[in-house]
Amino acid sequence: MRPEASDLFVALPGDDLPAYVYDLPDLREHVRTIRAALPERVELLYAAKANSDPGILRTLAGHVHGFEVASGGELDHVRAIVPDAPIAFGGPGKTQRELTRALDAGAERLHIESEHELRLLTTLLGDRTVEVLLRVNLPVDVGRVALAMGGGPFGMDPVRLDRCLEVMESAPGVRLRGLHLHLASGLQAQSHLRLVDKILAWAEKWARDRGIDLREVNVGGGMGVDYASPPAVFDWAALGAGLRRILARHPHLTLRIEPGRSVTAYCGWYVTEVLDIKFSRGHAFAVLRGGTHHLRTPAAKQHDHPFEVIPEDTWLRPWDRPEVRDEPVTLVGQLCTPKDVLASRIMTERLRVGDRVAFAMAGAYAWNISHHAFLMHPHPTFHHLDDVGAPVTGDTCGRRTS
Ligand SMILES: *Cc1c(COP(=O)(O)O)cnc(C)c1O
Repeated sequence: MRPEASDLFVALPGDDLPAYVYDLPDLREHVRTIRAALPERVELLYAAKANSDPGILRTLAGHVHGFEVASGGELDHVRAIVPDAPIAFGGPGKTQRELTRALDAGAERLHIESEHELRLLTTLLGDRTVEVLLRVNLPVDVGRVALAMGGGPFGMDPVRLDRCLEVMESAPGVRLRGLHLHLASGLQAQSHLRLVDKILAWAEKWARDRGIDLREVNVGGGMGVDYASPPAVFDWAALGAGLRRILARHPHLTLRIEPGRSVTAYCGWYVTEVLDIKFSRGHAFAVLRGGTHHLRTPAAKQHDHPFEVIPEDTWLRPWDRPEVRDEPVTLVGQLCTPKDVLASRIMTERLRVGDRVAFAMAGAYAWNISHHAFLMHPHPTFHHLDDVGAPVTGDTCGRRTS
């Protein structure tokens, strides 16, 4: 964590806890590193569903080619926050209204999930043109990954693509720019490269066999994030070098990637405090203000979420301060369910009531996937570290701080 961030974690008034802190200079540095590692013929889009916080979108805007959105809500939000950024609209189950909205908003690409969706699009087009990628559910072995999309309801089987080509023959406004294949999440660089290699070889052959001028392939996101080891950041340099080698064999192709988690996970922190320490049947528990209704990531991914303890030495109560020392402790939230666990049996030197705890890697699929209405606890406050290190307080979905 940057010193500016840890200073803020200490300085946050107690009433602001729990708090989400987004370190925007850290994010800017990270996305610059990613961009610099990628060859020119790779276009970087950010998958807004990972975290569409306005400060995050604005920070990324100058450094990514555009944004991938997966709903009409995301489309409108991204348009409002970063009006000039190119938008690729994907996602299963697009409604007629959403497709119309995407056309009206001038989305740069539409990622088509099925023949039915394509037919629907042709009825809405009028005399407009739109560039599409057909999303393919290619049956390749992706190995052991966090999430495999293949075999799910995403995109279409390769044999169904020809029907789409037929539909497009009678709808000249729909221009086939290429293919989209987001097949897995949680890949490390080398397995990602092997997958891209297979995808491009298959895609070029598919296009060649049909006399199609294939100009673009979007291979999705899914670059791995290791919550068990925060410093083990995805190897963007290796990915970039490997993509350069692969693209040399595909001289006419532009490759697109659209990562989400690996871009924003690291810039976010969920900061809170210990409300109580208990010992139950031999195990130590620290009950925190907040919980998985704010930070659902560990429950969703079934992991222990990484955290740092920020000791608070002041103790004004007239009784002994509850604490746990040199033993494993389970960090839980305020919900009345045994599933409200943020980290389980983690060896800790010392944790006391009133100490603060900062959960790292809370910048992606964290607040925005959380069931925050459950039990009606207050929302967290939101803070952005800007360039001068000064906190800019919450303008997003949370409780306002003045
Ligand atoms: C979710 C998603 C992404 C982003 O995945 P990450 O694992 O966050 O990188 C990209 N493309 C599509 C189509 C997605 O559904």
